[in-house]
Amino acid sequence: MHIVVCVKQVPDSREIRIDTKTGTLIREGVPSIVNPYDLHGLEAALQLREQHGGRVTVITMGPPMAEKALKETISLGADDAVLVTDRKFGGADTLATSYVLAEAIRKAADTWGPVDLVIAGKQTLDGDTGQVGPGIACRLGLQQLTYVEKIVAVEGRRIRVERRLEDGLEVVETSLPALLTVLKEINTVRRASLPGMIAAARYKPIVWTVADFPDIDVTKIGLKGSPTVVSRSWVPEVRKVDTTYVDGAAELWEALWATDLPERLGWSAEEGA
Ligand SMILES: Cc1cc2nc3c(=O)[nH]c(=O)nc-3n(C[C@H](O)[C@H](O)[C@H](O)COP(=O)(O)OP(=O)(O)OC[C@H]3O[C@@H](n4cnc5c(N)ncnc54)[C@H](O)[C@@H]3O)c2cc1C
Repeated sequence: MHIVVCVKQVPDSREIRIDTKTGTLIREGVPSIVNPYDLHGLEAALQLREQHGGRVTVITMGPPMAEKALKETISLGADDAVLVTDRKFGGADTLATSYVLAEAIRKAADTWGPVDLVIAGKQTLDGDTGQVGPGIACRLGLQQLTYVEKIVAVEGRRIRVERRLEDGLEVVETSLPALLTVLKEINTVRRASLPGMIAAARYKPIVWTVADFPDIDVTKIGLKGSPTVVSRSWVPEVRKVDTTYVDGAAELWEALWATDLPERLGWSAEEGA
């Protein structure tokens, strides 16, 4: 099986701040990590390789510093890691990102053989749209299985998964090639082994720039290919809640009705009486 895992390097969300003047994220000095969902995607790919053989190729599109994220994926066991980077790709929204990643996956297939499965995270910690996985699937004409919580079986050219829905689980089967977007519940991410860390330290990620995609449509990449406009970003206001300790259910009920919670929950005054 040839599995491609899409990973994005993101700022550690516990350290994120917003420039109140420009409304943009302040990334300087913020440590970067591999998007957590993508590590679960990589783990799923490594487990499939252990069961069925084959190879795992990791692809990221991002600035040169994303090389660090790729080395981490090598330390965990990926066979190869590709950095798709070029100033011309910069400023991409999800439309342009999924276009370039789809082209990179086609190139990975030309380089290492046909791709059976593409795995992406459910969403990223920073952009958070959850659009890139489905965008890639549409562009490559792949079946897409989103919100995957468990890979039940891969038998021949069929894959069966459990998808988490708001009100339950759905078991879905489709043919390969396919694309999955995965949840954290799918597995526990392994730790890097010492040989893995040594391999990662020696590894130089493969770099593809615009020049490596002679047929790419330059009107669909980077800022030019990105119609999304972010009109405003802000940090949600943290509401300070007054804590009052009451004794007994009647007092608790009364105290609850003294807040605006019943109104926010849509409860009627009759219910309170
Ligand atoms: C030079 C350069 C600079 C960039 N700078 C930034 C930047 O400052 N901020 C920023 O957010 N983005 C940057 N990007 C990347 C790109 O703009 C975003 O990745 C894209 O908009 C993703 O949106 P999202 O975070 O909502 O993804 P979602 O749709 O939430 O992501 C879902 C899943 O798709 C996959 N995925 C998403 N993005 C990528 C990616 N880039 N590479 C591989 N897999 C991916 C992951 O598996 C992820 O879990 C840059 C790209 C380049 C080439």
